[in-house]
Amino acid sequence: MTSSARPLLNRRLAEFGTTIFAEMSALALQTGAINLGQGFPDTDGPEEVREAAVRALRDGRGNQYPPGPGVPELRTAVAAHQERRYGLVHDPDTEVLVTAGATEAIAAALLALVEPGDEVVALEPYYDSYAACIAMAGGKRVPVTLRPHEGSFRLDLDELRAAVTDRTRLLLINTPHNPTGTVLTREELTAIAELAVERDLLVITDEVYEHLVFDDAEHLPLATFPGMRERTVTIGSAGKTFSFTGWKVGWITAAPGLVSAVRSAKQFLTYVSSGPFQYAVAEALALPDSYFAAFREDMRAKRDLLSSGLAEAGFKVFKPAGTYFITTDIRPLGESDGFAFCRALPERCGVVAIPNAVFYDHREQGAPFVRFAFCKRTDVLEEAAARLKTPTA
Ligand SMILES: *Cc1c(COP(=O)(O)O)cnc(C)c1O
Repeated sequence: MTSSARPLLNRRLAEFGTTIFAEMSALALQTGAINLGQGFPDTDGPEEVREAAVRALRDGRGNQYPPGPGVPELRTAVAAHQERRYGLVHDPDTEVLVTAGATEAIAAALLALVEPGDEVVALEPYYDSYAACIAMAGGKRVPVTLRPHEGSFRLDLDELRAAVTDRTRLLLINTPHNPTGTVLTREELTAIAELAVERDLLVITDEVYEHLVFDDAEHLPLATFPGMRERTVTIGSAGKTFSFTGWKVGWITAAPGLVSAVRSAKQFLTYVSSGPFQYAVAEALALPDSYFAAFREDMRAKRDLLSSGLAEAGFKVFKPAGTYFITTDIRPLGESDGFAFCRALPERCGVVAIPNAVFYDHREQGAPFVRFAFCKRTDVLEEAAARLKTPTA
């Protein structure tokens, strides 16, 4: 007999009912609003990459279970990409693991590396799956809050050091950072690396926006810092880099022991996924630098377009150095509750945004911040900017 007094959803997950994205996307549908809530492009990636997927499917490559670690072509391409861009040398057979998007990489890494009771220090606001996966692993999350400082959200290194205790197992880092658009600097990353080495911590670093950095910001993988190669699990994904978020092809690169541990968890989650797409992504990763430069330039122009629109409408804009999200402060509009603001915005002016508070443990810290995605067509962003001219009307 099941007890009716006992909730169906277990205690570990009780706080993660349904995501705000479901609510906001429903609102968008109801009101016909432009959805700048969820971060997916409204234009597909390169034609030749799409064709590569079609070819693989027709040629019968990947239509049956691919190898557990991923197809050799993709593992080799990931290793070549890490070496070409960052000088990081990885053995495709023992140091690369293909996953069902970065989402599964995050889940498998946490499930593999966290013992119940272990503390996981994560940057807040955080990507929504981090908290749920730490909870599923039985870990305890310890948020370190990025705070507004001179136009961007910065990490307080003393606060980070103070968050580490004898129970800390790992640091969960994300750069370029969703939702704030912060790209951690060489100084910040050096301090994180020194702390990890000094306290002998593992590090999971989510670098899915590695190719989306603007102006003079530079993406520096944590694994390139002294002492980090052997303790870092680096996560990448084709979804954001090639604008095929539905393909769900991600990967980790790490030392053999870490890859082997993460594979142990991953094999019982999906086992394998995305067969034909793995071959296509292998080709995508080998695209010339000009593809990556053009993609970045296109996104920079979109960032600038939406940033100006939001600034003109009266928002305080934290111009992102990376990712495809803009975080704004609504207080100059005379508002302070991001939830209420985002619930009213579709009706008021036909645009959907996300309240950053959902990415915080300390919800009050995130209350006045609202996130807009700019990975949309130029005409869509122009229309959104026009509609946002009267955000409190
Ligand atoms: C989109 C996103 C992911 C998920 O990537 P998938 O490859 O689609 O699973 C992970 N981390 C961050 C920070 C993201 O923004």
